[in-house]
Amino acid sequence: AKADGRGIARVFVEEMERLVRERREMEVALQTAWREKQFFLLYQPIVEAESGRVAGFEALLRWQHPERGLVNPTSFIPIAEETGLILPLGAWVLAEACAAATTWPEDLFVSVNLSPVQFRGAEAFRQVRNALESSGLAPSRLEVEITESTLLQEGPMVRATLEQFSEEGITVALDDFGTGYSSLGYLRTLSIGRIKMDRSFIDQVETSPQSLAIVRAVVGLARTLGLRCTAEGVETEGQRRLLTAEGCSHLQGYLLGRPGSAEEALRRTRTSAA
Ligand code: C2E
Ligand code: CA
Ligand code: CA
Ligand code: CA
Repeated sequence: AKADGRGIARVFVEEMERLVRERREMEVALQTAWREKQFFLLYQPIVEAESGRVAGFEALLRWQHPERGLVNPTSFIPIAEETGLILPLGAWVLAEACAAATTWPEDLFVSVNLSPVQFRGAEAFRQVRNALESSGLAPSRLEVEITESTLLQEGPMVRATLEQFSEEGITVALDDFGTGYSSLGYLRTLSIGRIKMDRSFIDQVETSPQSLAIVRAVVGLARTLGLRCTAEGVETEGQRRLLTAEGCSHLQGYLLGRPGSAEEALRRTRTSAA
């Protein structure tokens, strides 16, 4: 039994060593990716539910690795957050997305995801200001998407930054709404202009009375508080009809359009305007 125990311990240690090695390799690969400019953005349309008109695009980060191929942001953003790479990377995303938006018709907005890490210190504020200044984009055409984990960081910095954004006309969107643990009180006391309803509720809105009840409640809440509301992950015609009937103002998902290149986004602004 003693020998077995040592065997298990050895397997465990080897497994831990493997994980640490893989993790270290990923960190190095990310540094290289940053140096070699392997990151790019895709843009997914956000559509007005009633009219079907494109209202704006969400910028979504992609990593094109020479051997691994296209790497999903959910697998590298947590590591970029831990190593601090998210700071220069996030600043680049903001600048790139704002520059792209200046090529679109003036009534379209661009929406950019911000990491909680960007809200430590005054980075988020500085990065947003720099991106707007260097691109010349009107602040009213920028949205920033934050998650409930950013709000949980407490501290006066987050609150002050969000207030500053909204004073300048930048819309703050609360992403993945309903999946976190934050209190509804945030919607009242913080400068939030939009709720993005998480895909997990939209998935089952046609089949689960519970999901439908939640969607109704969120749409109603948004209405009452005067917030815009985007349903994420709309994939079927049935979901579109239902969400529109419930009064959800904006829709996003594969049904309305998959994330596409900047060139594709530009083409879509033209077909939508026509
Ligand atoms: P998110 O902000 O919730 O973005 C929506 C995700 O849902 C995107 O995944 C999008 O491609 C996907 N999606 C859109 N419509 C549909 C649909 O109809 N069905 C399904 N199944 N999926 C849909 P993506 O691009 O892989 O991004 C994953 C997450 O990575 C994002 O979730 C966001 O949290 C994060 N992320 C992406 N870009 C950035 C960035 O520039 N900065 C930061 N900090 N995070 C980012
Ligand atoms: Ca988002
Ligand atoms: Ca989301
Ligand atoms: Ca998400």
